[in-house]
Amino acid sequence: MKVKVDFHIHTCYSYDGLMTLKELIVYSKRSGLNCVAVTDHDTIEGALKLVKQDEILVIPGVEVSAKGCHVLALNVMEPIQSGLGAQEVVERVHEAGGIAALAHPTAAYKGARKTLTAKFDAIEVINSSSLFFDLSTYLNGRIADALGASQLAGSDAHYAQEVGYAYTIVEASLNVDEIVKAVKMGLTTPCGRRIPWGVRLKREALSLKKKIALGLNGLTASSSTEGEGPSFYGCSFC
Ligand SMILES: [Zn+2]
Ligand SMILES: [Zn+2]
Repeated sequence: MKVKVDFHIHTCYSYDGLMTLKELIVYSKRSGLNCVAVTDHDTIEGALKLVKQDEILVIPGVEVSAKGCHVLALNVMEPIQSGLGAQEVVERVHEAGGIAALAHPTAAYKGARKTLTAKFDAIEVINSSSLFFDLSTYLNGRIADALGASQLAGSDAHYAQEVGYAYTIVEASLNVDEIVKAVKMGLTTPCGRRIPWGVRLKREALSLKKKIALGLNGLTASSSTEGEGPSFYGCSFC
C-alpha cells in the first residue's frame, strides 16, 4: 500500500504558526493526504492534542532548533531539548523512540558542514517553503544521495492553505509505526512543488499582523510586568 504523507507542518502552537488544529485537519483531508506529521518549533503540545482525534492519522513530532540546523523529530511523544548539536539531537530523538530528519539542509548555511556529520535517518529533500525551491531541491537530493539517507518531502506549512504542496509517498500501511519503519528502510518518494507566491504573500501578511499584535501585547505586558511580555522571534531557516 502507498500512503501520502506531509512530513512537515506547523500549527498555531508554533510561535510563528497561523493554523488552528481544526484547519490542519480540514486542509489535510482536502489535499488528499493520508497522514500528516505535526512538527511545531520546539513544542509538542499541538501534536499531542492532534493524535487524540481520528479524522486523519497524525505522526507526533517537533522541529527541534539544533546548533546550525533544524531537525524534524518524528514519532516522539515528548519534547526534545533545543540548542544542542545535531548529533546529540539525533541521539535524543532515538532515545525517545523516534526518527530524526534534517529539515531544509541547504538553508542551514553556516552549520551545514558540521550538521552533515550527524547520523540522520532521513533528509528533507523537498520543502515547499524554500525560497530557492529548484536549487534547494537539487542540492538537498545530492546531500541525501551522498549520505545514503532516506528522502522526505514536506510543505513546511505555517498557514492552512499551504498544507500538502509537498508530500512523500511511503510504501506502508496506514499506521504510524509502519510508516516510520518504511522511512527508515528508504521506501519513500518525495514529491511536490513550491508554495505559490500568492499564498506565500498571504502567509507573510498574516504573520506580520501576528508579529505586530504580539509586539503590542509585549509592550503592554512589559509596562505592567517587567520582563514577562511574550516574545516573537523570526524563524531564521523556514
Ligand atoms: Zn518548519
Ligand atoms: Zn525550519
